[in-house]
Amino acid sequence: MSDISTQGTPLTDRHESVHDDFDRLHLWHPYTSTHNPLPTYKVDHAEGAELVLADGTRLIDGMSSWWCVIHGYNHPVLNKAISEQIGKMSHVMFGGLTHQPAIELGKLLLSILPPSMNHIFYADSGSVATEVAMKMAVQAQNNHKRTNFATIRNGYHGDTWNAMSVCDPVTGMHGAFGPALPVRFFADAPTCRFDDEWDPESFTPMRRLLNEHADELAGVILEPVVQGAGGMRFYHPQYLRELRRECDRLGILLIFDEIATGFGRTGKLFAWEHAGVEPDIMLIGKALTGGYMTFSAVAASAKVADMISSGEAGVMMHGPTFMGNPLACAVALASVRLLLDSPWQQRIQRIESIMKERLAPAADMPNVRDVRVLGGIGVIEVDTYVDCGEFQKRCVKEGVWIRPFGHNCYIMPPYMAVTDAQVERLCDALLKLVKELPSS
Ligand SMILES: *Cc1c(COP(=O)(O)O)cnc(C)c1O
Repeated sequence: MSDISTQGTPLTDRHESVHDDFDRLHLWHPYTSTHNPLPTYKVDHAEGAELVLADGTRLIDGMSSWWCVIHGYNHPVLNKAISEQIGKMSHVMFGGLTHQPAIELGKLLLSILPPSMNHIFYADSGSVATEVAMKMAVQAQNNHKRTNFATIRNGYHGDTWNAMSVCDPVTGMHGAFGPALPVRFFADAPTCRFDDEWDPESFTPMRRLLNEHADELAGVILEPVVQGAGGMRFYHPQYLRELRRECDRLGILLIFDEIATGFGRTGKLFAWEHAGVEPDIMLIGKALTGGYMTFSAVAASAKVADMISSGEAGVMMHGPTFMGNPLACAVALASVRLLLDSPWQQRIQRIESIMKERLAPAADMPNVRDVRVLGGIGVIEVDTYVDCGEFQKRCVKEGVWIRPFGHNCYIMPPYMAVTDAQVERLCDALLKLVKELPSS
């Protein structure tokens, strides 16, 4: 340890309390270089919608720790649920054993997921859920011809191998992995925006692709209505109705990735409700545990489950060690109940209207390409690639936590924890920081 801590360049005028030298020299953070890592800020604790840094600085959280902390941090109800479960058991294998939290959570989820969903597979993270869903689709097709997938550009489905292969080929990770990745079919992202009048041309690229490659396709995977980390785009729900019809006609399974959109973020409990069409397989994660721990679930229709069970293998070929983890199930159960027992819809509508009003002036800024708000998501798209490290340094000075990505500066606060005043402060800080960005 002492060896390690004396390696590399010593700290000079950095604030030891919020910028830790060991962290900078030895810990990998998401998508960072070891040569030139982005600065990190040490969080001492967090409560409600605020992060408290090691030097006492309080930041209003505009990210919900990447979509998941919907009730805020250190929530007494969720704390209680998880500590009570620890007192019983933290884990037991799910092979041959079961437990009440898994059963109760399954019942609750089936009561709020699309009515055709009938079977639940618990998995470890969003990325693993994507893997499981893709395996399900291939197994359900049960021939060794329909093994590939179609998707739309600007999508994001996680960082594991198959998940990467269906992420956007430009903003995603295809560049770094090249021929190591399986080759998928990409249709241009829907051009028709959420609020626009439906333009049937918007579906043409996907229709063409599906008809051309139907014989090879096990499924189509996409994020319904809101594309998250691959572009923060909101598209027209009619696209999904067209897609459902075409998939049915061609025998292609439809997979909705609701890992980011689930549990109210878009203003509906799940984003498929904007369109009213049901998938064959649906993924949830992120906010499922209220952000307490990693966990996900893959829901499938009875038809898909039957196809898999009457197929060659006869079983669903996946079974992770921590499948159905009781701590995760217990805290997910508490989080979903807490959400359903609250006026979540009004709360998110209110936040949406504040963001719409407060972010609107950005549309007139010369460096802004687009401003869009849906549910608890507010996006300002700028005309330059944002320097994340520099932007975050300014955020901390403004007392907010926002992490831009590419051209998008966006906020998605913990909607069940933020006050109106906190949302207003987030919006005002975002406007100010965007105004100060260089223009192209
Ligand atoms: C975050 C995300 C994933 C991956 O989830 P992880 O838990 O990070 O593995 C997959 N799909 C979507 C839509 C996501 O937003």
